[in-house]
Amino acid sequence: MKIGTDVEQDILRLHAVHDALPDIGFIGDGNQGFSREDCIRFVSGVKQFGGRLVLLEQPVVREDLEGLQAIRHLTGIPVAADESVRSLEDARRVVHLQAADYINIKIMKTGVLEARRIAAFALSAGLRLMIGGMLETRVAMGCSFGLVLGLGGFDVLDLDTPLLLSTDPVMGGYRYDGPLLHPWHQPGLDMQVPGQTDCMTIQ
Ligand SMILES: [Mg+2]
Repeated sequence: MKIGTDVEQDILRLHAVHDALPDIGFIGDGNQGFSREDCIRFVSGVKQFGGRLVLLEQPVVREDLEGLQAIRHLTGIPVAADESVRSLEDARRVVHLQAADYINIKIMKTGVLEARRIAAFALSAGLRLMIGGMLETRVAMGCSFGLVLGLGGFDVLDLDTPLLLSTDPVMGGYRYDGPLLHPWHQPGLDMQVPGQTDCMTIQ
């Protein structure tokens, strides 16, 4: 769930979801919106109603690596660096300062080759991998899913942003099925994008 705008409102929203679905764990994505103190207050509020936070994603601004480090140590909840990692150099700083447990890889932040370098580096440094997106269609998201299938090692998949688009013009390729992603079986991305008069095939 998106958090990071208003601590009390964020706690109330998670509490409401917890009441409806008491067995779930939450990933809270702060999108850099919290101060360190806000985040600590948010975590204790969630703990108070019995909510289970499994991951805090980028609670504070991207430059505040010490803040990320403090939050993971003070709360005991794993932290994912998203906006803080836009290059391999950023990933090296995060590892050096022990600022995160996960790195959120996005090909829209780094391109595909740098994403591969960051993923290999993070795994070799003992971090875990998450993969996400911005607001791309299933063409780019299929490429990200291809990285997941090809490289392995990704623990958290957050590849749902195409579902937020009002229409999906892309045919074929991977398929959503509730919380599951089903791969495709043909070469390339196995997608077609219908045009005015013809159909472009993406391989
Ligand atoms: Mg994020």
